[in-house]
Amino acid sequence: MSDPSESGDSSSSGVTYLENILPAPKQLHMGLFEVRRELGSGSFGRVFLARHLESGFICALKVLIKTEIAARASEKHVRREIEVHSNLRHPGILGFYGWFHDETRVVMILEYAVGGELFDLLVKSKHFSEPCAARYIAQITMSLAYLQQKHVIHRDIKPENILIGVHGELKLADFGYSIHSPGNSRETVCGTLCYLAPEMTLANPRYTNAVDQWALGVLTYELLTGHSPFDDASSAITPIRIRNLDMPPLPSSVSPEAKHFIHSLLVLDPAQRLPLKDALVHPWILKHAAPSR
Ligand code: ATP
Ligand code: MG
Repeated sequence: MSDPSESGDSSSSGVTYLENILPAPKQLHMGLFEVRRELGSGSFGRVFLARHLESGFICALKVLIKTEIAARASEKHVRREIEVHSNLRHPGILGFYGWFHDETRVVMILEYAVGGELFDLLVKSKHFSEPCAARYIAQITMSLAYLQQKHVIHRDIKPENILIGVHGELKLADFGYSIHSPGNSRETVCGTLCYLAPEMTLANPRYTNAVDQWALGVLTYELLTGHSPFDDASSAITPIRIRNLDMPPLPSSVSPEAKHFIHSLLVLDPAQRLPLKDALVHPWILKHAAPSR
């Protein structure tokens, strides 16, 4: 008798043969997990620490409530988050293991980032030393370079969306605003106001993945000083300040190399922003975060 797995037979007899040797894939549902505690909350729901009962595997469940998604007409947004995130695999990107939905919820099964948000660590530390900030920025730059290679624009880079793994390594998270854009030209404004690139603040915005390079510059400024350069009490003023590059001067304690790194990314013309591959070999990064360190 011929072996259907060798003949490439996809007829029902071949499927039956496979069912005999492989366990049938299990339907995912909430009952498979023990939910332990809340890790954080977001626009459409909450994130929980959970344990997969059968394997003991610890993960995070991002649980979005369908009525809240519908109330904001954000079905497309959630579908896109799942589509984009589920196609990414990189040590600097929060792992996406699977997803399911039931009558009331959409649930994403994610890698658990034991260290929580970079934002909380920054608030606690007030600001980071140059070696520490450079090592963090080198990691985020590598994650962003991977995204650009996959034609993905994150569009919401900020310390709240960067999580910390078990070895203190950074994990880029929250792909809620991300977009797969092979043509690399977009028009929708989204993200967080004080991280928006100047071209996104225009009346008819047209932008590319260089918006993530701008946000990397804002992030570097913030990690070194503890303040976001364009944060303003009035949200009407922020876009004007961004378009005028009107930011408080970096303190004299910040090294010339770090200043040069930031000013190479916070450039009004997107085409002139430091490319990520060059950012990785910038003197400030090499001084503190060369691969051998
Ligand atoms: P928002 O729209 O407000 O950004 P969101 O609904 O997209 O929120 P996330 O940003 O993904 O949700 O998660 C909300 C918070 O939950 C995070 O800022 C973080 O504090 C926590 N969190 C999310 N995922 C994890 C994880 N995998 N491990 C640990 N904590 C997490
Ligand atoms: Mg978030």
